[in-house]
Amino acid sequence: MNSVLADLPTTIFEVMSQLARETGAVNLGQGFPDDPGPPDVREKAAEAVLSGWNQYPPMMGLPDLRRAVAAHYRRFQDLDLDAEREVMVTSGATEALAGALMALIEPGDEVVLLQPMYDAYLPLVRRAGGVPRFVTLAPPDWRLSEAALAQAFSPRTRAVLFNNPLNPSASVFPDEDLALLARFCERHDAVAICDEVWEHVLFDGRRHRPLIGLPGMRERTVKIGSAGKIFSLTGWKVGFVMAAPALMRTLAKAHQFLTFTTPPNLQSAVAYGLGKDDAYFEGMRRELQRSRDHLAHGLADAGFAVLPSAGTYFLNVDLAASGFGEDDVAFCRRLVAENGVAAIPVSAFYAEAAVRSVVRLCFAKRPETLDAALGRMTSLR
Ligand code: PMP
Ligand code: GLN
Repeated sequence: MNSVLADLPTTIFEVMSQLARETGAVNLGQGFPDDPGPPDVREKAAEAVLSGWNQYPPMMGLPDLRRAVAAHYRRFQDLDLDAEREVMVTSGATEALAGALMALIEPGDEVVLLQPMYDAYLPLVRRAGGVPRFVTLAPPDWRLSEAALAQAFSPRTRAVLFNNPLNPSASVFPDEDLALLARFCERHDAVAICDEVWEHVLFDGRRHRPLIGLPGMRERTVKIGSAGKIFSLTGWKVGFVMAAPALMRTLAKAHQFLTFTTPPNLQSAVAYGLGKDDAYFEGMRRELQRSRDHLAHGLADAGFAVLPSAGTYFLNVDLAASGFGEDDVAFCRRLVAENGVAAIPVSAFYAEAAVRSVVRLCFAKRPETLDAALGRMTSLR
């Protein structure tokens, strides 16, 4: 048995969702929206299932979707991508991450990880034989620093895994941090694997800035996106990877033996969806921002210290600043068992217990769901 996988616990998202199902708790843990996703996109998928092609699509993805991805990133991020040579469809961002690490890492290569990190990263790096080097980010700013990067990068650095907007901190790296990271990648000849699945879920008028667009990064960046977050359809698992042709050739080798393809009907529906007008994307952000504010105000009224949320489906509360003495894991256990609300302890996103006092809550829910959770949390002390 592979020891990296044999020793792993079950992912915190499944643990908390299972507990929520068992106890009937309001689930603000795992990040998925109450919103069922745009009806026209779902109708396209249904039509494609009923009367479209249901056999293997091309390995690199449906040409329509690859073209739609390139056009979408030209429209929103000013990127110039060649749909045929620089875009590949994967079964979710998760496959893209696993494939990128499989394709780029030789055993012993170092991979820089910024923690808090999405919980799949570290096991995938280790399974690929990579040696993790951590940069620790801390609330309330979650910023990069030159000193921390200088400690983590070395002559053996092959890649950095960069998630922006960042789950679970709900923060967005400022341009200054992107430029700093780009300088380190260039200096160390490292590839940036950029998990940008939250690129559309940004608030207060922010616009996403992709690392691949920075000077010197075009040939050394793997950009990853996911329809799950763009269309509030997290179960669909349609992802896309963008990279210069030399990198893409190797990424495609990993993809061909990981999943080979992704359901063609979902691909067609996503191709249609990516072409929706700006109003759809603005509307989604507006709705989510309203939900963020609803939960943030409710929590603040109940005496919680709420950290800022610039993007994603999440906001965080600082337990110590809210007057709670217990750590995040103990708090989340108590919250689900005694008060019937599931949340995620942010220490689960750290390799070492650097931060133990932050709890993540998902606000991508109907007002009634948020009110039910708030009602149950008001009595907490
Ligand atoms: N990366 C991050 C940072 C995520 O938050 C998620 C899921 N929420 C994923 C990857 C996985 O995306 P997918 O469901 O497309 O595999
Ligand atoms: N990305 C989602 C979250 O952060 C969960 C995905 C999963 O359950 N694997 O909550």
